[in-house]
Order: sequence, then C-alpha cells, then structure tokens
Amino acid sequence: MDNLVNILYIVSFALFIYGLMGLTGPKTAVRGNWIAAFGMGLAVVATLIAVRDTNNWILIVGGLVVGVVLGVPPAKYTKMTAMPQLVAAFNGVGGGTVALIAWAEFLDTTGFSNFKHGEEPTVHIIVGSLFAAIIGSISFWGSLIAFGKLQEILPGKPIGVGKLQQPLNLLLLIVAVAAAVVIGLGASDGGAEWWWMVLLLVAAGILGLMVVLPIGGADMPVVISLLNALTGLSAAAAGLALNNTAMIVAGMIVGASGTILTNLMAKAMNRSIPAIVAGGFGGGGTAPGAGGGAEQKSAKATSAADAAIQMAYANQVIVVPGYGMAVAQAQHAVKEMAALLEAKGVEVKYAIHPVAGRMPGHMNVLLAEAEVSYDAMKEMDDVNGEFNRTDVALVIGANDVTNPAAREDTASPIYGMPVLNVDQAKSVIVLKRSMNSGFAGIDNPLFYADHTSMLFGDAKKSVGAVTEELKAL
Ligand code: NDP
Repeated sequence: MDNLVNILYIVSFALFIYGLMGLTGPKTAVRGNWIAAFGMGLAVVATLIAVRDTNNWILIVGGLVVGVVLGVPPAKYTKMTAMPQLVAAFNGVGGGTVALIAWAEFLDTTGFSNFKHGEEPTVHIIVGSLFAAIIGSISFWGSLIAFGKLQEILPGKPIGVGKLQQPLNLLLLIVAVAAAVVIGLGASDGGAEWWWMVLLLVAAGILGLMVVLPIGGADMPVVISLLNALTGLSAAAAGLALNNTAMIVAGMIVGASGTILTNLMAKAMNRSIPAIVAGGFGGGGTAPGAGGGAEQKSAKATSAADAAIQMAYANQVIVVPGYGMAVAQAQHAVKEMAALLEAKGVEVKYAIHPVAGRMPGHMNVLLAEAEVSYDAMKEMDDVNGEFNRTDVALVIGANDVTNPAAREDTASPIYGMPVLNVDQAKSVIVLKRSMNSGFAGIDNPLFYADHTSMLFGDAKKSVGAVTEELKAL
C-alpha cells in the first residue's frame, strides 16, 4: 500500500508539471488546468490511502464536503473581472491551512519538547513547522487584505502608519522569529511553549496585515502572486515537517512558479518588487496631466461615424485592449465590430500587452470569452514591428501600455517599461471616457499626437455606436 501511495504521488507530480506546461499558452491552458486538477485529485486519493488506519474519517469526509461546498460555487460563478480577488481568497485559504497544519503538528507533539510519540522531534520537523506557521500566517492575513481591497470592502488607497511602517514590520518579524527560536530550542517547558506558538502566529498575522495594507489596490495582483509564492514555500516547509512528499513537491512548484510570475509582472511594469512591497503606488489617483508636461496641448475628439469610415477603408486595424475594455465589458461588442470589418476585407489583429488590465492574461481571457481567435491575438514582441504598416490602431480603454513616454521620456515614472508602439500606426483612435490617466497616474502624449483622435465615452457604448455606423456603410 505504501508503494502504491508513492507511485500515485509521483504520477500526480508529473501531472502538475505537465498541466503547468499547458498554462503557458491560451490554447492549451484549459486542458492544462484540468490535467493539474486531476493530479491534485490523485494526490488527495493517495493521501487518503496513506492515512487509511485513522479513526478520524468523519472529520476527513466533513473537511472534504466543506471544501467542495465552499470551493466549487465561487470557482464556477465568479465573473472574469473578479478573478484576482478569487485567487487572493483561494491563496489565503492555502496559507491559513498551512499555518493550521503547523499548529496542529505542534499540538500533536504537545509542544515540540514533549513529543507524544516518545521520540524527540527531528530538526526538520521543528524548523519546517515553525517556518510554515510564520509564512502561512503572513500569507493568510495578507491575502485577506488583498481580497478586501480588490472586492472594495476596504479602501483601495494605501493605508499605512507613515515612517513607523518599516520599523514596526521589522519588530513584528523579529518577535515571530524570536518566538520560533524559543520554541525550536525547547527553551521553555510544554505549557509556556504553547503561548510562544500563539505569539508567533499573532505576530506573523499582524505582519501580513501591515505589509499589504499600505499597498495600492491596483498593485494587488503582483502582491497576490508574491503571497502565492510564499504560500507554496510554507506548504513545502509543512511537507518537510509531515514527511509528505506531495506537499513538498506541490509547494515548491507553487513557490517557484509564483516567484517567476511575480518577477515577470514586476518587469513588465518596470517596477522592482521591493518598491511594490514598500507600497504607496497605484492608489487610484486619476488626475490628468500629472507629471506629463503635455498640459498645454489639446486632444482632438472624433465621432463614431468618422471612426467607422476610417476603419472601413483600412487594410489593417490593430485593436489594443486595456483595463477600460474590462471595466466596460466591451469584449463581445469588439468581436462583433471586428467581424463587420473583416467582412469588408479589413485585417483585424489584437495587440496584447503582458500587463494590460489588472492581472496577467486579463485581455486574453476576456477576448477568448468573446470567442476571438487565438491566432488573431498577438503578443507585444510579435506585433510591435507591425504598427508602422498599420492604418488604424484602435485603443480600447488602454492607457499606460500605449504610453510612448515609457520609450522616450527618461523623466517618466514608467520610463523603461516595454510598451506597445501604437504611436507608430498611421492613425490612432482612442476610446475612453475622459482625459484621465490610467493606473500609473501619468499623462499620455499619445492622446495629443496629430494622428490621434479621441472617441469619448464608455468603451462598450462607443464600440456599439461604431458597429451601427459600420452596418450603415
Ligand atoms: P490603464 O489603467 O493604464 O488605463 C485604463 C484606461 O481605461 C483609463 O485611462 C480609463 O480612462 C479607461 N477606462 C476605464 N473605464 C472605462 C470605460 N468604461 N470605458 C472606456 N474607457 C475606460 O490600463 P492599461 O490596461 O493600459 O494598463 C494596465 C496598467 O495596470 C499598467 O500600468 C500596469 O502596470 C498596471 N497593472 C497591471 C497588472 C496586470 O497584471 N495586468 C497588475 C497590476 C497593475 P477614463 O477614465 O478616461 O475612461
């Protein structure tokens, strides 16, 4: 039986890794997700076989039922725009579970120094459990705040205690680590040790709150990815303590992939991870003209009819979707408009910036929902060379990801961030509601360029109006 358990675990790791490979492209992502989920199901079965002699079947089955009842409905019915908070919630549950497992392991040994099974706990049990307790607790409470900010239960703007923030965070970390050291060295007897464990969990929990509260709502996806990596590491540590290979491998996969994703997101935003964690950015300021130096210029407004004519006579139109398309839920309208253009012989492509929107793959997911073909969605590096031979670039609720200042203005806060070369198209039509800035809170010189015209209004309504004009042409 033990051999069977080990074989099932190895098969499930293979499925995790194979599933993860599927997540690297939109065509294979859904299948990859199913494969990894099947692997996780197999790991659960293997674990049930491993604990077959337990007397706790009622608790185990009860836990499985609670998990299914709480997990399936949000996963099925959450709207695409609310995915970041769902991920935050799921991640928080993972971190909380790891902290509870570490606590349970601690209680099971009635405090590590008084090991109930009559043998001294090994170093890897003590260190693994304590590490898992600290990181799991940080991740749980941090994810709860991330969820609250994204769900707008908490204000999205940074909430901090000013200059005291960093020293306070350091103090909390020192308290949590000191409590772990006291427990680990067995410096106190069984009874007092219990209180040290509570102190450890509380200090780490407050640290989780304090680290995430000062971060602006829009930075949350990066923070969630970071917390996700931490949850993975803590699960791996708990796996070490429990001698459970499945937890070690799955935890390390989550830790490694979460770290890579965090780095990629930070790089695509041209921000450093310490700068994001230091907080205070992206608190929702939308003042136009801030830091842009383009205040003297004026932008040209256009109408749906003019936009329709311009596009109907183009050879190629590149649609550049951004966060505003997600807000307006304009993806289906965009698909309908593109179909009309294609029927008129216009080639339509979609330029996807890696951090357009508010989560990785945001635009791909929305466009795929509207059944836009994957072949028409072009990654930034593949499409950037095409703008200079494109007649119309149609920017739908995108702002920062099209800002040429990132390429040209060394003083710009987003200087160095890779952007879509929309300004190189022969003409540019921008759909947004006002001249307000986007996530980075800075002005966009693209809007004032001679070959750019602005179609003001909600993106869904504007695209609908253009579609009606196209039908009439
Ligand atoms: P931006 O946030 O730069 O701009 C979005 C624009 O959409 C706004 O200027 C807004 O202008 C417009 N808008 C909002 N609602 C509507 C609507 N209903 N109809 C029409 N327009 C609307 O978005 P981008 O996608 O260009 O850039 C993403 C930004 O988010 C980047 O700065 C990126 O670094 C950041 N980010 C991305 C993450 C990711 O993983 N994708 C994670 C975290 C941050 P107006 O108010 O005038 O309508």
